[in-house]
Amino acid sequence: MSEKLSKQQELDTKLYSLIEIEKRRYKQKGLHLITAFFLWACFFIGFPIYGKVLWSYVHEFVGQNLKVLYPTGMSFLHTAFMLTWYGLFSILYCQNNTLFEKWRVNKNGKWPWQKDKKEWEELKQKTYKCLALHHLVVFPIILLFDSFVTGLKYKTSLEQFPTIGEFFFQILFCMICEDFGFFWSHYTLHHPKLYNSYHKKHHEYEQPYSITAEYSSLPEYILGNLIPSSLGIKLMGSRVHIFTAIAWMMWRTYTTAEVHSGYEIPFSPVRVFPLSGSSYFHNFHHSHNVGAYGSYFLFWDHFMKVDRDFQKYRYTENMKEIEKQTTGDQQTGYQDSTSNKKDE
Ligand SMILES: [Zn+2]
Ligand SMILES: [Zn+2]
Repeated sequence: MSEKLSKQQELDTKLYSLIEIEKRRYKQKGLHLITAFFLWACFFIGFPIYGKVLWSYVHEFVGQNLKVLYPTGMSFLHTAFMLTWYGLFSILYCQNNTLFEKWRVNKNGKWPWQKDKKEWEELKQKTYKCLALHHLVVFPIILLFDSFVTGLKYKTSLEQFPTIGEFFFQILFCMICEDFGFFWSHYTLHHPKLYNSYHKKHHEYEQPYSITAEYSSLPEYILGNLIPSSLGIKLMGSRVHIFTAIAWMMWRTYTTAEVHSGYEIPFSPVRVFPLSGSSYFHNFHHSHNVGAYGSYFLFWDHFMKVDRDFQKYRYTENMKEIEKQTTGDQQTGYQDSTSNKKDE
């Protein structure tokens, strides 16, 4: 009995200990972790250094026209970033590139366009309309309100340009705030009384692809996306430089496009931080519709114990993969030895 208990405890540690989870996560990335760190450093070190050079050409113009530039420029950049990420992932979907296909989360599953053609056409049209509404109407209205009603407090001058340290901690703070806001709003939207009216729309995609990141009901878009994403920036208020706010928007839009992409990219710079979630994590949420509510990090799911199904699933899948590899190696070894014998 006690032996049975200790075996169960051992299994639970493997499944649910954050240290064990992190060990497995980094181990799976392998040497790609070096590229991930390099890209991560390009963002956190390169942006404050080279961004300052760029800013020296535009800071006066931005400072003098901030009220008008903020709603127009930010709306334009928001859409431009999203189109860039969608475009990049679309190349992967079209190419069926073997290198990226091996990083597909659901290797045996079908993309939405590979299922029912008529259903896919309808869903695609609904998605485009929804995104147009969010990008061309809702987001600009909120920015206009921000600019002309609540007022803007951003720093704009070259002298106030963020240092590497400020840039790093402010983006990290935005990530923590976003993750907090996203987890709790998402967790709440899964309440049976709210799910059908406000969140079911986003779950129409059992297998998401990058563009589905913002396919949601309007209340979900505002409460679950816009408010959590801007929470950190708003809390820091006048301490934030507008350049940091733009960089954060770029980071955030990339993350959400990647997390819905259906690919677990091992060199992703946005998944270098400890306790990071992943595409695999969010894909599980879409396909199983249980737990795995967080955005950047795993800790709220872990703290609320709603990551259990996901961790169990991931562990079992890993074990199956290892078993398959071992059997394959043994078979290859057997075949090699038999062919050697024939040669002899
Ligand atoms: Zn959900
Ligand atoms: Zn999603």
